Amino acid sequence: MSELSHPSIKDGWFAEVSDTMWPGQAMSLKVEKVLHVEKSKYQDVLVFKSTNYGNVLVLDNCIQVTERDEFSYQEMITHLALNSHPNPKKALVIGGGDGGVLREILKHSSIEEAWLCDIDETVIEVSKKYLPEMSKSYQDPRTKVHIGDGFKFLEEYKNQFDVIITDSSDPEGPAESLFQKPYFELLNGALTEKGVITTQAENIWLHMDIISKLKKDCKDIFPVAEYGYTMIPTYPSGSIGFMVCSKDKNAVVTKPARFEWSDDFVKKNLKYYNKKIHEAAFVLPTWADNVLNQD
Ligand code: SAM
Repeated sequence: MSELSHPSIKDGWFAEVSDTMWPGQAMSLKVEKVLHVEKSKYQDVLVFKSTNYGNVLVLDNCIQVTERDEFSYQEMITHLALNSHPNPKKALVIGGGDGGVLREILKHSSIEEAWLCDIDETVIEVSKKYLPEMSKSYQDPRTKVHIGDGFKFLEEYKNQFDVIITDSSDPEGPAESLFQKPYFELLNGALTEKGVITTQAENIWLHMDIISKLKKDCKDIFPVAEYGYTMIPTYPSGSIGFMVCSKDKNAVVTKPARFEWSDDFVKKNLKYYNKKIHEAAFVLPTWADNVLNQD
């Protein structure tokens, strides 16, 4: 069988080039083997084995997850939301086809149902094959999967979910609508009374314009809306943020409202998230704080 190739891989290196999202810079990873190349109905799908970061999932030339550093993103986007809710029973992931956020949701003993709606079944299938640690929660009986557009899916649900996590790709391509104000209105409507959301909210070095607009839109809709972030080497410029919002005007999402885990559980089951980092995630560098928090 001939070796697979992909236009983003040259001389054994993958380069994450985007002239619109991060012009003039590109993260490169050394490729050991190309595992999967496919044009799905919605996007270009590439999986390769890297020399230092394990298997890597790439959609439309943007790195989505690597086996080595995925936990910093998956744990933070999930537990910032779930630990800001007093008693989350039913959670929904929009996007998140790799399954990592589902895995994190199911670490909470209060969770009775974890739903996931991803537009692209191919992402789920390749993740089951090449990212087994991330996708293992598809087998959990509390998991329910829906294949379809997250925006359209939410139009069907009112007052249903305690927590909704939007683990989307960047706002170019199929995820564009998931960054617009009408989407946040739908999220608000689909939440129960004290419902909480987190969404993927880009990087302060690159996308302050997108983040400022997201924060403003969220503030117009939710009484509580805060921006936090996590460190992650393989996302552009090494960090990525989240909008964390609550429908409860008395909620303080910048501190865990609830922390059910023992020190032993944290040691065995979490690699990034802890009580201190929940609070630290919302402390921004001065220039970003000036733009995002002076209102
Ligand atoms: N953590 C990643 C990041 O920030 O790069 C995102 C990972 S996850 C794989 C992104 C998922 O969002 C993909 O599986 C993609 O198919 C899904 N997606 C994109 N647009 C969507 C939409 N409109 N509705 C539902 N899922 C969507």
